[in-house]
Amino acid sequence: MSDLCVVQTPFVSKNSLFSHGTGVLNTYLNEQNISFRLINLNIFFKKSIYGPGYNLEKVFSKENCLSYLTDKNIFLEQFLSKIVEKNGLNGYSTYFFSVSSSYNLLTVYCLAKYLKEKNKDITIVLGGPYLSKKGNENHFKALELPYIDFIFNGDIEGVDLPKDLSSDNLKEVEGFCYSYEDEIIIKNRVEVSIEEESVPTYPKYFVDEARKSSLKNDFIPIYRLSKDCPNNCVFCNFELGCSYKSLEKVYEDIKFLKEEYSTDKIYFADANLMSNPDYLFELSQKLGELNIYWGGMTGFIDVDENYVSTLKQNGCKFLATGLESGSTKILRDMRKPVKKETMSDFISKLTENGIKSYNHLIAGFPTEDYTSLNETKKFLRDNFKHIFDISINIFSLFKDTEVYRNPEKFGIVIEEENVEKSKEAILKSANVSIPYRLKGKTVKETNIIKKKMYNSLFYRFKPIAMINKSNSFNLKESFEYFLKKPRLRFKNELTELYY
Ligand code: SF4
Repeated sequence: MSDLCVVQTPFVSKNSLFSHGTGVLNTYLNEQNISFRLINLNIFFKKSIYGPGYNLEKVFSKENCLSYLTDKNIFLEQFLSKIVEKNGLNGYSTYFFSVSSSYNLLTVYCLAKYLKEKNKDITIVLGGPYLSKKGNENHFKALELPYIDFIFNGDIEGVDLPKDLSSDNLKEVEGFCYSYEDEIIIKNRVEVSIEEESVPTYPKYFVDEARKSSLKNDFIPIYRLSKDCPNNCVFCNFELGCSYKSLEKVYEDIKFLKEEYSTDKIYFADANLMSNPDYLFELSQKLGELNIYWGGMTGFIDVDENYVSTLKQNGCKFLATGLESGSTKILRDMRKPVKKETMSDFISKLTENGIKSYNHLIAGFPTEDYTSLNETKKFLRDNFKHIFDISINIFSLFKDTEVYRNPEKFGIVIEEENVEKSKEAILKSANVSIPYRLKGKTVKETNIIKKKMYNSLFYRFKPIAMINKSNSFNLKESFEYFLKKPRLRFKNELTELYY
């Protein structure tokens, strides 16, 4: 058995089983001839959701995680023990967790604490695009936690790792930050240009497992074309800017992925595919030559019919948008650079050209009221025939966002000072929603208002989206898949977007 265990952290996204970052790390470790085992917890979690009946979002709720991390939570501890045992996570000396979003960070802390309590001599390293974001010093607070040994700051391909990954050796490596006698040692960020980024790869057993967990035995590699985002939405802590890989590199990488994994599908993990429409247009023609189906996240832009139909002809299957709200006032408050008319036009052009439109919404933005919420409902009603699916998220307040920096401008009061000392390092580093309240309300009342807004959008529109979606599939095929893989039929969203 190798000494290093790389863990694909759970909840990468609701749609995907593995992350781009894990794939890049896999390629890098292979190039360095470092032996390791890559374990995909998403597979286990996915089975758990539909198997023994766990609601994982509840199991790893913020409250459960915080009580386990600061004191005890027997229920969560038993669950962690099952995860470790069933996935063979025991017996390694070093663990690398690649963290791609705040969504899974508390879960990672819980796993780290559990593993460390079982064996205090192991080394726990956290890294990945989420933790190594430029300018986000708060993440290093996690090094105050006794179960986190290192946070890697930057792009792993920029360093030479020693064969022996002992703590003493890692302290000598660039980018590996740690705490020493109550002081946090933060090293400079290691960066490689986007052009130098390795193509993400995965071991065969990992790919086979992912195929088995897919409705149609698909393996959909994740790839990114660009870094960062040129927009500056007030609730988002994405880095400002945008750099792209050359089209030649993208072509070669995707050709490689297609052949390596015998797949005709790829998912682009970019923040905003339309941040450079000309680049995407040219790229789509190259993807057309490769006969590959693709999709990803995008903002809204003014596009003509020819643009959209060219994307479709060249394999575009779906585009997921950050719609967020159907209210002009809220879009302005969010600093979304788009008008409602552009959103409607974009969504209808996609659908009319056979590209599925998947839309993300935010319920309970601080300046939201029932008038603006009703505008969003009206927007959805007016456009629903062009919407394939929606995902509704409750507003969360993150550090390094405009709303956090200027709370009074958005009518909120930040309540961080009321956080117990024992939870401070966890909350600051995990960047889970920072406690805040609307002016004149308590935190609890604020959360109730947000939940009500969420419910009124969710129960009004999600069931219709689900029914529309089921109707768009061939019933006979759906039934056959239901018989073959009942627990997957209604939840394999990424695969569904490609058919
Ligand atoms: S467009 Fe999306 S990724 Fe870019 S700043 Fe806005 S929310 Fe963030």
